Amino acid sequence: MSDSPFRQNADLRAATRLAHDAPQDRHSVTPPVFQSSLFCFDTVEEMAARFRGENQAYVYSRGDNPGVEAFEQKIAALEGAEAARAFSSGMGAISATLMSLLQAGARVVCVRDVYADTYRFLEKLMSRYGVRTEYVDGCDRAALAAALPGASVLYLESPTSWTFRTQDLAHAAQAARAHGVVTVCDNSWATPLHQQPLALGIDLVLHSASKYIGGHSDTVAGVVAGSKARIAALNALSYPYLGAKLAPWEAWLLLRGMRTLDVRLRAQWACAEALMEKLASHAAVRRILHPAWQCGPGNQYLHGFSSLFSIELDAAYDPLRFCNALRLFKRGVSWGGHESLALPAQVALQGAAPNAQADFGVSPALVRLYIGLEDMHDLWRDLEQGLAQAVC
Ligand SMILES: *Cc1c(COP(=O)(O)O)cnc(C)c1O
Repeated sequence: MSDSPFRQNADLRAATRLAHDAPQDRHSVTPPVFQSSLFCFDTVEEMAARFRGENQAYVYSRGDNPGVEAFEQKIAALEGAEAARAFSSGMGAISATLMSLLQAGARVVCVRDVYADTYRFLEKLMSRYGVRTEYVDGCDRAALAAALPGASVLYLESPTSWTFRTQDLAHAAQAARAHGVVTVCDNSWATPLHQQPLALGIDLVLHSASKYIGGHSDTVAGVVAGSKARIAALNALSYPYLGAKLAPWEAWLLLRGMRTLDVRLRAQWACAEALMEKLASHAAVRRILHPAWQCGPGNQYLHGFSSLFSIELDAAYDPLRFCNALRLFKRGVSWGGHESLALPAQVALQGAAPNAQADFGVSPALVRLYIGLEDMHDLWRDLEQGLAQAVC
């Protein structure tokens, strides 16, 4: 396993790091896909040496694969991390990370309005293993400080899902460290281009790579990054046994998607910003939930904005009728790909408890909008006609 080619070029800007891959065999400009479950040894002595940890040869693709490793190194370089570990989904990264840090009797402090399946993982599964979670308002420093003593993990997501409120990551990291609490931050919305939690003192940063990082709605993947010691602890405890490894072909798709991450984000933000301006002056829109439109204690750490936000509709407009009337915006979960999407809070709130939206008081008048790569004028015409048809 080679050292990251990006580390020797620490002065390169993110866009350049994204555009280039490590030098390849036979001067290929893209990496090969090592679609192999295992890697062989010339002698049993070499194999024994590998198992003693005396060399770094590849063994088995549940543990290590060269293409997956290339993706991990690229993410680590962008996040300013020593190491990273890729997973078959964002939830794979979240569950393996938390399970490596928690044991029976432990308490998690988690920000409110966290991603719904992270909430369900803590409430439905971790609760069965004696792990209790306390949810705090991430904007409330005093509540956070009061919850930390005796906790094992502080779990953050900045900005949060649906409400898009940021947390003061530097302050939270410092307060947690003072109590020996490990900090984890979901950075999927900002991407490593717009926020680097590790530089603010956070211990582990993780992503759903299914979103902006992949960028083309064709891959489900996740990744966690941090110090060598923290990733080694995850490798020793949860990663090999939960088995949620990233497939070589999906790692290749992620590397391909990442080459355009910088230009995609720029274009999408320009479009989203223009649309939010227009939405803000429309009679149907009560408020816009996005860090550019609401103050938050962690807004200062965002170097740029993303194109996922919520709008709260006036009571005279029906969010479901609005979503059904849209022609260019598709109705769907997820985000981060080429296509614009609409998701009403009422519909996302499915089934019985535990349910993050209901428990955190997310307004049923919210519609989450994701702006993809289409033309701004076409999208605005679609939103305008959708709102016109949504009048109750
Ligand atoms: C989608 C998402 C996840 C989960 O990622 P998957 O790749 O779908 O498992 C985690 N956090 C946030 C903020 C997300 O939007």
